[in-house]
Amino acid sequence: YYKQLQQSERLKTTGQLAAAVAHEIRNPLTVVKGFLQLYQQEEKMDEGSKRNYSLMIDELNTAEHVLSQFLMLAKPDNDIKLEKVEVESLLQSVTDLVKSYGILRDNNIFLHHVEKDCYILVNIIEFKQLMINLLKNAMEASPYGEPIFIESEIQKDMVEIKVTDHGCGMSEEEVQSLGTPFYSLKSKGTGLGMMICFNIVEKYNGKINIESKKGEGTAVKIQFPIVKNP
Ligand code: ADP
Ligand code: MG
Repeated sequence: YYKQLQQSERLKTTGQLAAAVAHEIRNPLTVVKGFLQLYQQEEKMDEGSKRNYSLMIDELNTAEHVLSQFLMLAKPDNDIKLEKVEVESLLQSVTDLVKSYGILRDNNIFLHHVEKDCYILVNIIEFKQLMINLLKNAMEASPYGEPIFIESEIQKDMVEIKVTDHGCGMSEEEVQSLGTPFYSLKSKGTGLGMMICFNIVEKYNGKINIESKKGEGTAVKIQFPIVKNP
């Protein structure tokens, strides 16, 4: 037991250190990107150079995205405020958020059979992050315009939220690899999205369950303990 404790303490320190490094790297990247964007506006630049500037900016955007996802993972738990929230309104606000910010192609997300008057204890920002990651994956796996469904159902003392897509699906092996850091089959993927989801669900004493069939689609089910509304 002692050894385990030591190891987890060490992991925690390493995590904090990594987060500090990530943070320090992000700032200079932002400066470099700013200058590249500025130079890119120059009128006398030839087409080839313009393309190179775009490539450099794209690469920096990817690096920034990886860093911000990583920082999200490394955030210490004690800064996080939990709130009692109603599932239906929470899911509605996630859907609205995703549509209004153009995070996803709009008009293909449907809220279905959502339980009313059901409360869970979560941090709203983290919960949204979790849902956005799942919805983004569903969308990236689906052909254009293919609908994605969100449903919820009460199961004893838990509420289950299900995200279903009819996209490319995954093999058994691919499903097993989910949540492994940097596991991604996408050219621009970070492979951190599902790891973030697993972490958030675990933190709230929830469960996550993935059913998928290659070529048919995927259903991700997350469960959270229901809390009583006073
Ligand atoms: P990323 O999206 O950056 O690749 P994730 O951790 O979110 O990283 O997902 C890891 C991998 O799992 C994806 O690259 C993809 O291959 C697979 N995956 C995740 N969700 C789905 C889904 N709904 N349908 C098909 N494949 C998926
Ligand atoms: Mg993803």
